[in-house]
Amino acid sequence: MLKGKTAVVTGSTSGIGLGVATALAKAGAKVMLNGFGDPKEIETLRRGLEQSTGSTVAYHPADLSKPDQAVQLIEDAEGALGRVDVLVNNAGVQHVSPIESFPAEKWDLILAINLSAGFHTIRAALPGMRRRGWGRVINIASTHGLVASVDKSAYVAAKHGLIGLTKVVALETARTAITCNAICPGWVLTPLVQKQIDALAARENIPAEEAKGRLLGDKQPSLEFTTPEQIGELALFLCGDGAAQIRGAALTVDGGWTAQ
Ligand code: NAD
Repeated sequence: MLKGKTAVVTGSTSGIGLGVATALAKAGAKVMLNGFGDPKEIETLRRGLEQSTGSTVAYHPADLSKPDQAVQLIEDAEGALGRVDVLVNNAGVQHVSPIESFPAEKWDLILAINLSAGFHTIRAALPGMRRRGWGRVINIASTHGLVASVDKSAYVAAKHGLIGLTKVVALETARTAITCNAICPGWVLTPLVQKQIDALAARENIPAEEAKGRLLGDKQPSLEFTTPEQIGELALFLCGDGAAQIRGAALTVDGGWTAQ
């Protein structure tokens, strides 16, 4: 389905980003991975993905908290892979604390990675998509782009902002074959959420399994985690012709979280 297309997936050395990058590579896209981690492990991951999918897989170490590096990622992907047809803004971080004690530098970092990076990459990638007359921008937002939870001021603000950005880009590209949408996962069991499970287990002095159950029970009626593979499949669907008129949507994959 994506033979001849290329994709950049930010924050794809782990979790949801890796799930999306895998789905796109399996569908034939050349993929540029990005994110942090041990260089040897990243190289093993890159080579493994290339071998299992038969697609070209490259890696770029851009730090998405830095605007110039976000732009460089797109420019280098265009250089290395020839073009950027699919842009998935996925890199994200979390910090949990009441607002009175929320460190200002964490606010700045979360806004920079979870929101502003998307502005910079989209701004850099859109001209090429317009020239070629086709593109897909997929922003990985969150249920926290639609509803709030306590102690997540920066994350909720950034994700609400990302959905706003998604709508504007969708309108500005509405008369083209470029679409822009947001995916809003509920709880997905990735390192980002594992940290919150570990913190809850330590705070309440309960086993990690019980903390997992509580996290789900509080928010996600299905009591099951969404998986990175499920997010990957939705991203792939959004790249297809069937999704050509899905524009500016915030699609939930949240086990019923936001239906309540
Ligand atoms: P994760 O921690 O597994 O992965 C985050 C990725 O982002 C990693 O590859 C990491 O290296 C990369 N990253 C972090 N800071 C970066 C930076 N400055 N520059 C470049 N890359 C950077 O987390 P995840 O759960 O897979 O989260 C991915 C996205 O999904 C995030 O935007 C997150 O907010 C969103 N999300 C996650 C959940 C969930 O339950 N896990 C739910 C809703 C939304």
